[in-house]
Amino acid sequence: MPEYRIPSDDRVRASLARVFSTRHAVNSQRQLKRLVEKDLKGEEDFRVGEPRLRQIAIDSGRLDLEIHCRETGERRSLVRCPVCGERLRRVRNMTVFGGTVTLGYRCARCTYWTGLRKRVPTRYVFTRRQ
Ligand SMILES: [Zn+2]
Repeated sequence: MPEYRIPSDDRVRASLARVFSTRHAVNSQRQLKRLVEKDLKGEEDFRVGEPRLRQIAIDSGRLDLEIHCRETGERRSLVRCPVCGERLRRVRNMTVFGGTVTLGYRCARCTYWTGLRKRVPTRYVFTRRQ
């Protein structure tokens, strides 16, 4: 059975800084995971889960996240952001009758947004902030 360790947040942050010191962008979350694990590999193997890596990347404030989505036919109200877990805000519009209607949801922390037909993230592009 292969043995591996889980790196601390600090270690992952430091690794992300090294990875992006030599490149401007990484085109998928899976590729970012491979690069970070390769960077961390020394005498021990490290593994970092993709959702956790994404959270640390968002929190670092040094990377921009481009979220590619696919629209589903699903109409369901959303509470949490599927990208970062933040509580979503409703995007509303006034109706001619003076009420409001929900048009969709957006996240104030990352750039995720969706209309009433749910958009599901399929790919992430990470770019170094200038
Ligand atoms: Zn979010």
